Amino acid sequence: MPGFELFGDLERKEVNDVLDNGVIMRYGFDGMRKGHWKAKELEQELQNTFQSKHVQLVSSGTAAVSVALASAGVGAGDEVIMPTFTFVASFEAIMILGAIPILVDIDDTLGLNPEAVEKAITPKTKAIMVVQMCGSMAHMDALQAISNKHNILLVEDACQAIGGTYKGKPLGSIGDLGCFSFDFVKTITCGEGGAVVTNNEEYYTNADHYSDHGHDHIGNDRGAETHPFLGYNFRISELHAAVGLAQVKRLPEFLEIQKRNFDSLRNALSEIPEVTFRTVPEGGVESCAFLNFFLPDIETSRKVIEAFKEDGVDVCWNYYDNNWHYIRKWDHLKDLKSLFPISTEVKKGLAYLKNAEFPKSDHYIERNISCLIKLSWTENEVKERASKMVVCIKRALKN
Ligand SMILES: *Cc1c(COP(=O)(O)O)cnc(C)c1O
Repeated sequence: MPGFELFGDLERKEVNDVLDNGVIMRYGFDGMRKGHWKAKELEQELQNTFQSKHVQLVSSGTAAVSVALASAGVGAGDEVIMPTFTFVASFEAIMILGAIPILVDIDDTLGLNPEAVEKAITPKTKAIMVVQMCGSMAHMDALQAISNKHNILLVEDACQAIGGTYKGKPLGSIGDLGCFSFDFVKTITCGEGGAVVTNNEEYYTNADHYSDHGHDHIGNDRGAETHPFLGYNFRISELHAAVGLAQVKRLPEFLEIQKRNFDSLRNALSEIPEVTFRTVPEGGVESCAFLNFFLPDIETSRKVIEAFKEDGVDVCWNYYDNNWHYIRKWDHLKDLKSLFPISTEVKKGLAYLKNAEFPKSDHYIERNISCLIKLSWTENEVKERASKMVVCIKRALKN
């Protein structure tokens, strides 16, 4: 997945452009910047890439999720439905707004289970946040239907699925708002950065203002701009945007390499009858950032992870035992360990998590192994990796 594996002259040139004129901020200083608007240019590129009318760059993927929700009016006491399998950023981005994350089960897509979503809807539900984990997608038609039926927002976190599509549309462009991350390990990187995409002009204008202290961005005198509403600082810098601008131009190349490496590994593993793969909804095309497969039980997945470690097969994880991506290890959330007081409303709203169990999610996550697909592997390295993986899995299945 990581675009940083292939840094080169293009990245250097874009960054040097910014350093040469010295304007590292994305807004203002029109006279000094000699026509360089890297963040604006990147937003235009991303409109094409993600086939969305509007793109607002921000400082991170986590910021993108918060800004997206805030722009659509989600805040204090509102419930946002999100999956048990995601990244900690999902609940962080919800809670910073005073809203309440409602965690529900996933299915064999490794994304939100539509039935579980429907069951979790209450009069307080403001948004469904689908997270397109590990390069693929949840059952988007079903989720969209639920969101339409109940008239609640569908927000898409496509941070890990840059380049994936569903029925011809880029992942991230399907919901009312989409969120991307360009942190250091994502398919294209800015170092740190993120984007909110939407076809809704009002949400876009809100995102533009909110991510820059509420500035209205009218005219060319920043000091004279008014603040129609309260905002915050989630800005990206020109230096970060410059790196992203170089990277986005190489995205088709990255995706091609990713697919080639993914296909080689998948073909090798599909010869083992006990190995099954995640469901990709009909009409969906994975970005191939990760290869995900299921083993018959948790004992086997733990043995396979051990065997991978011994044989030097890196960048593969079982998320059941992982601190970052699965509810099981999020004690700081369950115990509400916060540096500052949390509102009574949120405390009450999260009480359900203390003893919540998610056997359906466990069923998929404990048997799942997720392997990052790197861009820098040579053809030989991929072949070698594939055969090592097959040997390790067969060995684990035997004893
Ligand atoms: C990386 C990631 C984020 C957060 O992005 P940052 O840029 O690191 O803040 C959010 N959601 C998912 C699914 C991610 O993988």
